[in-house]
Parts: sequence; structure tokens; C-alpha cells
Amino acid sequence: MFVYVPQAKNKIMRLVLASCCAPCSAGAIKQLADGEIADVDDFIVLFYNPNIFPNEEYMKRMNEQIRYCESLGVKYAIGDWNHDAWRDAVRGLESEPERGARCDACFAYRFAYAREFALKNGYDAVASVFGVSKHKDQSQVDAAAQRTLGEIKYIPVRWDENLRQSIGRASNFYRQNYCGCEFSFRKTPAAQKEIVLVAK
Ligand code: SF4
Repeated sequence: MFVYVPQAKNKIMRLVLASCCAPCSAGAIKQLADGEIADVDDFIVLFYNPNIFPNEEYMKRMNEQIRYCESLGVKYAIGDWNHDAWRDAVRGLESEPERGARCDACFAYRFAYAREFALKNGYDAVASVFGVSKHKDQSQVDAAAQRTLGEIKYIPVRWDENLRQSIGRASNFYRQNYCGCEFSFRKTPAAQKEIVLVAK
């Protein structure tokens, strides 16, 4: 049996948007700020990405995230850069390809933090932009969220890609050329050498 339950009118949903960087989240944040996502009345951008390496790169992405949120007057929260703990969470999966088991663990690690953040701060739901890049598998992100968020609702929004790209063209964002962790560096000889060093 299929039962359709319409959303109650005037329902207030407080949403945490888990974000990896400004270029990926630009459209989503604008849509949320403009009230385009049904039932969401309040939201905060959560930048919790201890997967990003090295710290200089993390700081660049974090500062761009802050700059964009502040330009729109949007609330944000910044988690700790506990990269050693993140490394423990993906130990044994270092040689997995992007979209493989290491990424499963990485998404789950960050969603677990989003869940704790939501519970502590009175938010009902989590959405993310972890899957918007063309290098990502949105279904993998959705599955990690559904496994991890427990009593916190997951909202699998498909964000407006045209909007994201047009804001990106107009915003002169800092743009990275790899996902974030040391294992996702593009495979140049120099990067390979650095991977070997940091993986020890
Ligand atoms: S490639 Fe990206 S999603 Fe996968 S483990 Fe590294 S930082 Fe996380």
C-alpha cells in the first residue's frame, strides 16, 4: 500500500547544510537563502572537513566558505580540523579509488559530525553538497547520509547546477583541483611522492 502524507502547512524545519567548499555550495546556499527549498525556515552552513589536506589548503577552502556566507548574511559553523582522527577513520582504505570505500567512510565521518551538531543545536535535518561535483557519485553520498544520520532527517536535495555554475563564474572563488584528502591528489609524479610521504 502506498500512503501519501502531505507536508503540514507552516511546518518549520531547521536544516544543517553540510558543505565541503564554496564552489560546490554556492548555488545551494543561495537557494536556501532565497527560501526555495520547501519547508526549510532556518538553516546553517556547516563546514566540517578534516579530510582536507594539507592545512594550508584547508584554510583556503574554509576562508572562501566564510567569505561567501558572509556576503549573503548566512549563518555558518566551522568544525575542528582533526585530520589525524579522520585518518584513523579511513585507515586501511588509503589506496581505494575516489568513489570507493574510503569515500564511504569519509562521507559517513562528516555526516556523523553533522548529526551531532544538529542534535546539540536543535536542528531537525541535514542536507549536503558533497555530491555536486562531477567527480562524485550522488547515490554514494545519499547512502552514507542515510546510514549515519539516525533520527536526524536527511533531505536529498538535487541542487540547481546552472545556478551553482553561474555564481561560480561571477564569484572568482579559489578552486581546488582535487577532492580534499592526500589520497585524492591528482596523479602527478610530485603528488605521488607526497602521497607516499604523508601515508607513512
Ligand atoms: S577523495 Fe574526497 S570524499 Fe574521498 S576520502 Fe578523499 S576527501 Fe573524502
